[in-house]
Amino acid sequence: MIEDWDVDHLVVGAGATGLAFADALVDHGDASVALIDTRPGPGGHWRDAYPFVRLHQASLFYGVASTRLGGGIQQSGPERGLHERATGAEVRAYFEAALARLEGTGRVIFRGGVTHRGGGVVDAEGTVVARTRRGTRIVDAHHLAPTVPAVTPPPFTVEGGAAVVPVGKLDEHLDARRIVVVGSGKTATDAVVHALEAGVPPDRLTWVRPRDPWMLDRARIQPEPAVFQTMAADVWEAAAGAGSLTALFARLEEAGVMLRIDRSVTPTMAKAPTLARWELELLRSVEDVVRLGHVHAAAPGRLVLERGEVALPARTVILHCAADGLPHPPAVPVWSPEAITLQPIRAGFPCFGAALIGYVEATRSGDDAKNALCPPTQYGNTRAQWAEMTLRGAASAAAFMGAEDVREWARGVALNPARVPRGYASPALDEARERIARSSPAALSALARLAVATA
Ligand SMILES: Cc1cc2nc3c(=O)[nH]c(=O)nc-3n(C[C@H](O)[C@H](O)[C@H](O)COP(=O)(O)OP(=O)(O)OC[C@H]3O[C@@H](n4cnc5c(N)ncnc54)[C@H](O)[C@@H]3O)c2cc1C
Repeated sequence: MIEDWDVDHLVVGAGATGLAFADALVDHGDASVALIDTRPGPGGHWRDAYPFVRLHQASLFYGVASTRLGGGIQQSGPERGLHERATGAEVRAYFEAALARLEGTGRVIFRGGVTHRGGGVVDAEGTVVARTRRGTRIVDAHHLAPTVPAVTPPPFTVEGGAAVVPVGKLDEHLDARRIVVVGSGKTATDAVVHALEAGVPPDRLTWVRPRDPWMLDRARIQPEPAVFQTMAADVWEAAAGAGSLTALFARLEEAGVMLRIDRSVTPTMAKAPTLARWELELLRSVEDVVRLGHVHAAAPGRLVLERGEVALPARTVILHCAADGLPHPPAVPVWSPEAITLQPIRAGFPCFGAALIGYVEATRSGDDAKNALCPPTQYGNTRAQWAEMTLRGAASAAAFMGAEDVREWARGVALNPARVPRGYASPALDEARERIARSSPAALSALARLAVATA
């Protein structure tokens, strides 16, 4: 039987952004929502994450606006004093609870194992199981969904006999004679750190890094206004004086904002996840780094790369960490006749962006007015894209912070990294604000130039 869903919004994707959107939409208006996902439950890519995954940022920056995810300061361990970061299990439990809260309102339904196609909701066999009414707005909550190694084959040929496993299987292969980590992103750095912490000596690890990454010092990206704004001031001043992308990132490194693993190599990748200094020290202990471009094929006894081959001993395991955790399709207007497409608005914070779009959708009419408040940003990949994201993020923040109610809402939402709670005061914050204001004109014009630069 085909169900008729009399809902205002059909949210396609029940991961981080779909839930953050629905949460803010429902809390600030009377909309009804159907949330659907091809996966069986909520939580998106976290349902397929490797066992030792954690958020790379503070928990407070992630999730939905109504309910904080964790939020305490770490009292022990190498990140003592920094905000806590949830484990994969904690993120999954949090999203289950977030969905239960939404369903509890009586205005939200969830259906897993289905997608939206040809105007209907269809199951895996393509059978239509539900229809929405005329006027239901479709919300694309998977435009920037990450691909993860557990459910995405490696982006290279695997010849018979080569032992290639997804990152989630690392614990089963810690005693391999050699572990070859393929990838330069957050997943690969997590894998290297985990293997070393589990007792694998650095000289049993080979790390294939097609590009070296720039990463943000986690201690600088904290939900503490003075800390976050001081970091922003450093970025602004670094940009203001930078004549090239290489100079920009060198200045950011000098200011303690950006980190790189190998100081003798100029990284060209700038997805810029956060990294802690203790992790950096561990990553630097791996000396067998292969920089021969992307892997083309894994064969027994050898790895074929863009610019050469590497011989591998028997009992080598190749760890697939090469899925695209932060895809970069072009930014599109959030509101269009076809769909509301969830994207980050303030640079680099997808949950805040989705929640903001939910709030604006609940409180405004007219797509042009909504689009004017929420110009989207993309994720970074190259250094120029990072500059572009930073530039666009600044313009977007100015746009939505120009509306008094949005400003007030954003001030109360922990997902907003730049929020300054009412009553918060600190000389360091005042100083950071002054530095930002002083360097802003030069920084913006430099970023505009660097966003289209090649070196
Ligand atoms: C290991 C890892 C760690 C990360 N850590 C952080 C962090 O600390 N902080 C941070 O801000 N970001 C982090 N990110 C990035 C972040 O999780 C994502 O950018 C974003 O928040 C994911 O939200 P999403 O809703 O776009 O994707 P997802 O959470 O993956 O949700 C998208 C959902 O859409 C579903 N879907 C896709 N297509 C369809 C379809 N056609 N029909 C129905 N359903 C569909 C998918 O099954 C999925 O469940 C991390 C990413 C990874 C991979």
